Amino acid sequence: MSKPKVAFFDFASCEGCQIEFTNYGDKAFLELLNHVDVVEFREAMSETTTEPIDIALIEGSFTREADRARLEDIRRRAKIVIAYGQCAATGGINALKNHQNDYLPCVYGKDAGMPHLASQKALPIDAAIKVDYKAFGCPMNKYEVLQIISHLVHGKEPVIPDYPVCVECKRRETVCRFAEGDHCMGQVARAGCDAPCPAAGIPCEACRGFVDHPNIPALKKVLVERAGFSKARAESKANMFTANQLELKP
Ligand code: SF4
Ligand code: SF4
Ligand code: SF4
Repeated sequence: MSKPKVAFFDFASCEGCQIEFTNYGDKAFLELLNHVDVVEFREAMSETTTEPIDIALIEGSFTREADRARLEDIRRRAKIVIAYGQCAATGGINALKNHQNDYLPCVYGKDAGMPHLASQKALPIDAAIKVDYKAFGCPMNKYEVLQIISHLVHGKEPVIPDYPVCVECKRRETVCRFAEGDHCMGQVARAGCDAPCPAAGIPCEACRGFVDHPNIPALKKVLVERAGFSKARAESKANMFTANQLELKP
């Protein structure tokens, strides 16, 4: 039996998720390569394909109408499409620009009018095509992506967590950042990363976005009342990786 064909594609992104994926070097990834055939992966190989593929992993946001045809072509050729990384899954950090008017001159100065900088709102790729699974995170958690691919290769349904990072943090018996006088957004951030940030002594910034039904007013209240944030800082903190999510759920 031939191995499933897997291809990686990128759109508006820093390509950090692709780079993170190349940063494995452990047995689990090498084992995966025994079971799949990677046929396109710009950060790791020069070959490309126009053939049908079994699993397409798409990184980056949909920010230009001109990208729709390429996304549709990938969708037509792929049996399964996975949006991997926060840019592709929700728009991610790119979506901050959706709430700014003057970011182009601010970032690019006199070059702000260059044609390649013209873009629309930063949207998740499911604004353009049907997506079967989402692997959240900025960058995505490579072990979670590995698990999703492994489940698919073995005919199982991948499980994408919809519970908060606090659950994983408690499982690790990490001391809560609030007990250290710090802030944290793990109460509403989507788990699946195994809470590495609080374990390393830094707050969860919700880089995997929020759970499906986050209590945002409660998050802001905690940031103000327990962490001493101003209302404006609590607002912008809650927006960092989730600007599109908050737009949908004020
Ligand atoms: S999700 Fe983060 S790491 Fe991945 S491409 Fe987007 S900005 Fe880069
Ligand atoms: S440190 Fe953050 S993620 Fe961990 S229990 Fe406290 S609020 Fe939750
Ligand atoms: S703990 Fe929070 S910020 Fe850190 S990887 Fe997990 S979701 Fe992202």
